[in-house]
Amino acid sequence: MDLAQVVMPPGDGALVVVDPGHGGDEIGAAANGIVEKDSNLDMGRRVERLLTQAGYRVLMTRSDAGRAVAGLDGAGQPQGFSAQRRDLQARVDLANTAGAALFVSLHSNGLNDPSADGVETYYNAARPFAAQSRLLAQTIQRNVVEEMTRSGYHVRDRGTLDDACLRAFQGVCFPLFVLGPPRETSLGEVLRRGGDPAALGFSAGQASIVSRATQMPGALVELLFVTNAEDARLLTAADSREALARGVALGISRFLAGQS
Ligand SMILES: [Zn+2]
Repeated sequence: MDLAQVVMPPGDGALVVVDPGHGGDEIGAAANGIVEKDSNLDMGRRVERLLTQAGYRVLMTRSDAGRAVAGLDGAGQPQGFSAQRRDLQARVDLANTAGAALFVSLHSNGLNDPSADGVETYYNAARPFAAQSRLLAQTIQRNVVEEMTRSGYHVRDRGTLDDACLRAFQGVCFPLFVLGPPRETSLGEVLRRGGDPAALGFSAGQASIVSRATQMPGALVELLFVTNAEDARLLTAADSREALARGVALGISRFLAGQS
């Protein structure tokens, strides 16, 4: 069996936004010699190549390891809440302006507990496209796990998760920014939490800002844990990385072809 050969539905030219998570100063998770922002970018390029070969169009939200999206340099970004918000908003805006059919964000997990391992995929149930986003997330998740198994690798299937209350802060739930609905943030909240209003996009005298959500189904896949030794081995070797990318590309293409 030639593992490189996968049966991907022929593309119809649909535009897929592939979003390698993090970038610039914001590196994401890092452990076992893996830096998430670089790993995500390499994975994005693999998925881009596979989808393009199959006949889809791909727009990457970033293609440069050293920079975040659209010339944003990552400087002055507040930590702790809405982190990298201007950068994340730029990714959403890019997808909306391009009229993309799907938005798929690529990440890997990191935790203090080195025993945590596996693949999980998020969607948001609290905005338009919830049903399609859930089906997209399920299709990506299933195909990544199946493709890894087919290629002879074991990965834990952590399932598909609603991100609606992924992070809680002072009793308020926050979804993943790139998946969630529009969100209003007041100047008072920013100041109370130690953020920099200018870095979040506030102009002088502005009392609140409202974020913009993607206008298409979206999902975010966490491809293994950089903090788990066995997962890190799979994230380091080219063959297993390519199998992960095949799973993501298969999931996307099968969703678009109505083969979920
Ligand atoms: Zn990440």
